[in-house]
Amino acid sequence: MILLCKYLVNLSEYLLFLKLNQIIMKIALISTFLITLLIQTTSNQMNSRESVSGVHYLDGKPVTLEFNDGNISEIIRTKELVKNSSWFLAPGLIDVQINGYMGVDFSGPNLTVEAVKKATKALWRVGVTSYFPTIITSDFSLMKKNFAILAKAMEDKEIGNSIPGFHLEGPYISPIDGYRGAHLEKYTREPSWKEFLELQNAAKNNIILITVAPELDGAIPFIKKIVDSGVMVSLGHHNGSASQIKDAVNAGARMATHLGNGCANMINRHNNPIWPQLSEDLITPSLIADGFHLNREEIRTFYKTKGADNTILVSDALDLAGLPPGEYIRGERKLLLTPNVVKFPGINALAGAASPISKCVEVVMDFTNCSLEDAIKMTSSNPAKMFSLNDRGLIKKGRRGDIVMFTMSDNKINIKKTFVAGKEVYSLD
Ligand SMILES: [Zn+2]
Repeated sequence: MILLCKYLVNLSEYLLFLKLNQIIMKIALISTFLITLLIQTTSNQMNSRESVSGVHYLDGKPVTLEFNDGNISEIIRTKELVKNSSWFLAPGLIDVQINGYMGVDFSGPNLTVEAVKKATKALWRVGVTSYFPTIITSDFSLMKKNFAILAKAMEDKEIGNSIPGFHLEGPYISPIDGYRGAHLEKYTREPSWKEFLELQNAAKNNIILITVAPELDGAIPFIKKIVDSGVMVSLGHHNGSASQIKDAVNAGARMATHLGNGCANMINRHNNPIWPQLSEDLITPSLIADGFHLNREEIRTFYKTKGADNTILVSDALDLAGLPPGEYIRGERKLLLTPNVVKFPGINALAGAASPISKCVEVVMDFTNCSLEDAIKMTSSNPAKMFSLNDRGLIKKGRRGDIVMFTMSDNKINIKKTFVAGKEVYSLD
């Protein structure tokens, strides 16, 4: 009996011990869970919550922008600014026509994903948060190869956010001197839907803009097909008549590529491709406002006719942009890079632009006396709207945190910081 009692006491002690152990285990598990949750929440907040203060580009008044998960989560207007009172905050610049940058040529034979990353990072330094790498008229297999490389670069986690799609400028453009611009005649040709599909396949459907000459054989049905496939058609490097331009607009073309350039020097004063595109309400022209491709009077006239709401500025920069001035060999040609522009040596003709789109903000304000608001409209909000990039182009709650921070003095822009998807990707310090 005594033995039995002893046994029962031991058993109850053992059971109590087991119960206590279970309780301790449960407490330990719950504590671990809570601590992990706390650490995760804190680190998430540290990772995704960033903010930047300056003055709003629309009114010059203090503002703090908070980012969360890549987007603008709060726009806080304060009466007094504690710091950065001279730094403007504006939507990041969007360049829909850029051939290369800092020695990286998007149409060249040496393009790699690494090179695209290099160009993208260099563009962040000049306030560009999105751009359309532009492939011009060249050897067809090279175009295909380069579109495939650009499509790969778009998938890159670090830079992919800055490339919403590509611009194909040519090869279906005028072969005639002057209208053809710097494109090589031997690669120009008549539009081919089959060929375009090959390029679009290589680009994984990321060609979102194509520049076409409307007077070429088959151009109008080609434009219709392209537009139906969801790609923007811009008229450029052409000598289309008023009726051909009208037909192209009826087929869905909505832009004119670098209006006033890609045009012969000697044109008829009544019948030329500039007036019909300027007078057509449905056409939004892009302008190279680098101060060299169009003169003050041209920029003023185009701006007054179309207005800030219907104008898009582009750099059309060559890969030489960003490099030191001097002579360079590109493909089959020798080029001269001056501090402002690229020329063909000897004939003193323009070969291309050498300034990033931030220069266009300076020039358009200088030439037209437009406001900073309008200049940013033409270099960010309008291209975003035109290409339905509805997550960028404005400082608005819920839009992506693509922001450029800069000062302006003597009409010169000085970029201080650039943010892409709420992340600081460049700082002057
Ligand atoms: Zn061009």
